[in-house]
Amino acid sequence: MTAIDKNDTPAAARTGGAVLAARALTKHFKVRGARGRRREVHAVEGIDLELHRGRVVALVGESGSGKSTVARLLAQLYPATDGQVLLEGEPVRVSFGKRFRAYCRDVQMIFQDPFASLNPIHTVGYSLRRSLRIHQGLKGGELESGLGALLEMVHLTPAARYVDKFPHELSGGQRQRVAIARALGARPKVLLADEPVSMLDVSIRLGVLNLLAELKDEFNLAILYITHDIASARYFADETVVMYAGRIVERGGSEDVTQRPTHPYTKLLLASAPNPDSQETPEAGNGPAEAPSLVSPPSGCRFHPRCPQAMDRCRVEVPPFFSANDDQLSACWLYAGEDAS
Ligand code: SF4
Repeated sequence: MTAIDKNDTPAAARTGGAVLAARALTKHFKVRGARGRRREVHAVEGIDLELHRGRVVALVGESGSGKSTVARLLAQLYPATDGQVLLEGEPVRVSFGKRFRAYCRDVQMIFQDPFASLNPIHTVGYSLRRSLRIHQGLKGGELESGLGALLEMVHLTPAARYVDKFPHELSGGQRQRVAIARALGARPKVLLADEPVSMLDVSIRLGVLNLLAELKDEFNLAILYITHDIASARYFADETVVMYAGRIVERGGSEDVTQRPTHPYTKLLLASAPNPDSQETPEAGNGPAEAPSLVSPPSGCRFHPRCPQAMDRCRVEVPPFFSANDDQLSACWLYAGEDAS
């Protein structure tokens, strides 16, 4: 497989050269509550995001923060309630058929559970040949050499050892490598990796993240790395975006966000992350430990019921982004006295 060329069209300039962008992306799910009453889950509210070729953005947050919903909105697996997805500056409106297939060629998703994402009744060779046939139209000898190349790209070598294996005959790490190879078979510009290592043994997580970093450089990929593990974001991502209860609360360079967090939620997330060098129990934080209900989310700053620094205005006014440090933005009223963005 050849390296993917940069393809910054004039239209892409409208999104600052981003290959994939979200603008005020919002998703509300309609659900039925007690006694059949219709209710809305406010899963994602007004998300702005930009993915650039050759860079990794980590979307970090606890379970239920809406980060996986953002990935599915970007992958066009859910229709947005409001806002836009732009591919190379052009608004995307696809749901099925040829246009969806063309979109999938550019934007591929890697799921958390590699066992569930691979068909258990088909071999590795079947899954990868199918991807190469559908997305690149390869046949005959080209198809077979493409298959070998894909397996080598994800370091499953010698390729012949893996072609006829079924998913249950592989380890978790090998299955995730096959899932990554299948995504690469489309020659994508963007990979949306939804917790790609969280179901793997700790000992092999680093190997899969290193593989993704290597492929990003080789194919100039834009990667969205979704994780609840903020420590891995520092290691793997250029930019880190923190989500809480459906909203982005902090964003900036990964080193800044993980080493000098500004938003009280980011601080709580870091304080509660296990530190392998420390014997101390992680801090539980103040206030209720549960994430809030997204059916009736808290007014104002959604973090205020848990925030140790909450003020009166936090309970009524939604904080915009403020510049908290050089390139670090924080949606928190504590920074209201500084340069508003
Ligand atoms: Fe805490 Fe207020 Fe900042 Fe929200 S806006 S994080 S409640 S200080």
